[in-house]
Amino acid sequence: MSATLGGPGRRPRLVLATANPHKLSELARILADERIDVELAGLDRFPGAPRVAETGATFAENALLKARAVAAFTGLPVIAEDSGLCVDALNGMPGVLSARWSGRHGDDEANLRLVLAQVADVPDERLGAHFTCAAALVLPSGREHVSEGTLRGRLVREPRGTNGFGYDPIFVPEGEDRTTAQMSGAEKDAISHRGRALRGLRPVIAAHLARAAQP
Ligand code: IMP
Repeated sequence: MSATLGGPGRRPRLVLATANPHKLSELARILADERIDVELAGLDRFPGAPRVAETGATFAENALLKARAVAAFTGLPVIAEDSGLCVDALNGMPGVLSARWSGRHGDDEANLRLVLAQVADVPDERLGAHFTCAAALVLPSGREHVSEGTLRGRLVREPRGTNGFGYDPIFVPEGEDRTTAQMSGAEKDAISHRGRALRGLRPVIAAHLARAAQP
């Protein structure tokens, strides 16, 4: 049986420490695809769970900060991730500031418009960029694992597509003509930074579940 996002059950639980509903559904979808036998719980199932400020200098630091805090609060295994868009012509920015680039956290439209304005004079051939995701798993034993994934591509000047979230409408993966907002969820998961990072955690999650199942 594969991972499902739902209410309390008898299967081992794994907390997905994100309040972003888009990320939650992507993470749940990717783990379900990996056929891991856990029940996934979003942060909404833990009223009072800490909302951790992303003060780290790297995606990995931020992912670990979030996962550690929620693991300490819940006593359960926790996956947290931090991700963002890194634009070559902006020296890798917005990077860890991707969610609040325009000054207002989570304002996807304003963030995307600001990036487009900043690259307005950059020639097309220098519009390279990548998405990065660091996924951190913190176990009740205190063990910690971080896995990173990237998706290389380029920016386009006009937003296209309505799927996904964030910068998806202006990002075209290498070898594609469509933006990630024009791809289906399954198509994006197969190549995405989040899919790659999470699949990297699969063996550690499986080993943890095997240990937990021992009498
Ligand atoms: P945070 O990890 O909560 O700091 O937010 C990451 C931000 O990076 C999101 O709000 C998006 O703006 C952007 N981002 C991360 N992953 C993706 C993606 O898969 N598509 C589009 N934008 C993304």
